[in-house]
Amino acid sequence: MASGTLTVDLDALVQNWQNLGAFGPEAGAVVKADAYGLGVGPVARALAKAGARKFFVATSEEGATLRRALGDGPEVFVFSGHMAGDSDMIADLSLTPMLNSIDQLQRHMEALPKAPFGIQLDTGMNRLGMEPAEWAALGEIAMAKSPALIMSHLSSADEPQSAMNILQLRVFKEMTAGLDVPRSLAATGGTLLGSEYHFDLTRPGIGMYGGAPYTDALPVAYLELPVIQIRDVEAGESVGYNMGYVARQPRRVATLAAGYADGLIRAMSSKAKLFYGQRECALLGRVSMDLITVDITHLTETPASLTLLGRQQSVDTLAAAAGTIGYEILTSLGARYTRRYSGG
Ligand SMILES: *Cc1c(COP(=O)(O)O)cnc(C)c1O
Repeated sequence: MASGTLTVDLDALVQNWQNLGAFGPEAGAVVKADAYGLGVGPVARALAKAGARKFFVATSEEGATLRRALGDGPEVFVFSGHMAGDSDMIADLSLTPMLNSIDQLQRHMEALPKAPFGIQLDTGMNRLGMEPAEWAALGEIAMAKSPALIMSHLSSADEPQSAMNILQLRVFKEMTAGLDVPRSLAATGGTLLGSEYHFDLTRPGIGMYGGAPYTDALPVAYLELPVIQIRDVEAGESVGYNMGYVARQPRRVATLAAGYADGLIRAMSSKAKLFYGQRECALLGRVSMDLITVDITHLTETPASLTLLGRQQSVDTLAAAAGTIGYEILTSLGARYTRRYSGG
């Protein structure tokens, strides 16, 4: 079989969600971007079975997919809010848009005056949400319609020392003081900052999937890549596009079935490590579209496959080798892998 196998450990995912949930009063679950690339159907069903009742996605289209996977019951919150053209989807699939602006509030009130909604506030990130002045003008109108949730998002929660956290916490408290509505500020990073950041609901994403800044996370994604061919390379010969690797001594080189079309971004070229059991094997030269080449000179056996993600290497270690973050590694994982789900 010439495709890699991506195994998602749903028991570990649920355990991470429960462990993160134990920090605060209640944990929602962020399953945007196809559950960070791991498959929204199996991931969301496992979390719902474990008791998750509030899910978050980026767009109404993702919400529709999620609703079909979960059925009625759990709340599905949409970060991008109520966009033009979304009204039917929001109504038919019982989505709860997080309204980000006066335009979205007006659209929602006009199109679906009885449908639930939440409010997203901008407390300093300047990405989504109503700004303090806007909220001062609209708050009373919005509150009269009993929003399901008011939330904001921290820009620097993965830097616990950042003064931005304290600033945003203060602005969030000021903007929501005295309001009788459930509040949410913390994603994974904020959950770890301390109880003053937890309010009524936390919104973990990356930590559930095994990524930093939740350093106690259990690994969730396992990626095994089959070896297609092995060859001996003489000193002075090159490997891969543009002679990306030139052998100084004789080398044994394995060619594996995954490349940048599968999410092994080109920045991993000459940098990433793979594993045969506990033994580290270096990626040699450039990542191709469908293939990588790996140094197996030091192995005594002939491997049938090598591990890229697993107990030996977390998404963050691999991300660091490629100069990126675990989020990007996960959400880049390609569609060609055979996907397996264990537990759940
Ligand atoms: C993605 C996202 C989250 C989850 O963030 P993690 O860092 O993955 O835990 C929570 N809230 C908002 C608004 C988001 O965009």
